[in-house]
Amino acid sequence: NQSKVIKFSGNTVAATVLGFEGGSFEGAIIVLQDVTEVRRLERARTDFVANASHELKTPIAALKGFIDTLMEDNSMPADTASHFLSRSAAQVSRLQGVVTDLLQLSRLESRDEDRALVGINLFELLRAVYTNSLLDAHLADISLEILLLDEPVDVMGERESLEQLFTNLIDNALKYSPQGSVVRVVAELGESTIEIQVIDQGIGIPIKEQTRIFERFYRVDRARSQGKGGTGLGLSIVKHITELHRGRVAVESMEGKGSIFTVTLPVAYSQGDLAL
Ligand code: ADP
Repeated sequence: NQSKVIKFSGNTVAATVLGFEGGSFEGAIIVLQDVTEVRRLERARTDFVANASHELKTPIAALKGFIDTLMEDNSMPADTASHFLSRSAAQVSRLQGVVTDLLQLSRLESRDEDRALVGINLFELLRAVYTNSLLDAHLADISLEILLLDEPVDVMGERESLEQLFTNLIDNALKYSPQGSVVRVVAELGESTIEIQVIDQGIGIPIKEQTRIFERFYRVDRARSQGKGGTGLGLSIVKHITELHRGRVAVESMEGKGSIFTVTLPVAYSQGDLAL
C-alpha cells in the first residue's frame, strides 16, 4: 500500500492506494482520509511540549549561572552574593509558577468526564476571592471594588476551579494596570446565565492579540509579562475552567484604556424552581 499526504483546499488529506500491484493493473481503491484535525492536534502537542520545556529551561539555566558564579568566587562581597541569591530566588519562584500552572492544566484536562459539580453560591465565592486579592491590590496601589447583586445566585461547579478562574482574572487586572487605577468586579444576571466582569483601566490588549491570549503560553509581550512573573498559562486555565462549567469567556479591550474580561456561566436552579 502506498500512502501520500496531500493538501486539498486548506485541508490535509491522507490518500492511500489499495490493491494497486505494479505491472498487473486491474483496479485500485483510493481511500481519502481528512487528517487535518489529527495533524493539528499532533502539532499542538509538539508545540506544547516545546514551549513547556523552554519555560522550564530558561529559569534553570539562569539559576545554574547564579549558582556557578557564587561557587566560583569565594571572595565575592556579601552584597553581591546576596544580589545573586535574591535573583536565584526569583527564578525559583518562576519555576514554581510554571510547574503549578502546568499541573493545574493537566488536572483540568484529565478530569473532563468524571467531575463532581456541586451547587455553589457564586457571590460568596467571589467575595472570598476578592478578600484574598485585597492585599495584592493594596501593594499595587490599585483600588479593588466589587459590585454584586442582592439576590444569591448559584452555579453548578467546582469550588477550587472557580476560585482559580476569578483569581487569575483579578491577578491579571492588577498586574497589567497602573498605580492609582481601579479594578472592578461586577455581576449581571441574564435570563438563565450570570455574567461576571473583571474591568480594569490598565494597558489593554491590541485587537489582533485578543483571540490569541487564551492560548497556552501566549503572551502579548514576553518582556512585559515575564517581568510580572507571568507564565502565559493563566488565561488558558481560565478558558478551560469556564468551559468545564459550560460557560464562556470573552475579552474587550482597548490599548492604553483597559480591558474587560466577561465570564458567562449558566445559573443553577434549585429543584423547586422552574428552569425556563
Ligand atoms: P501571563 O501569565 O503572562 O499573565 P495569561 O495567560 O494570564 O499569562 O495572559 C496572557 C497575556 O494576555 C499576558 O501576557 C498579557 O499580555 C495579556 N493580558 C492578560 N490579562 C490582561 C489585562 N487585564 N490587561 C492587559 N493585558 C492582559
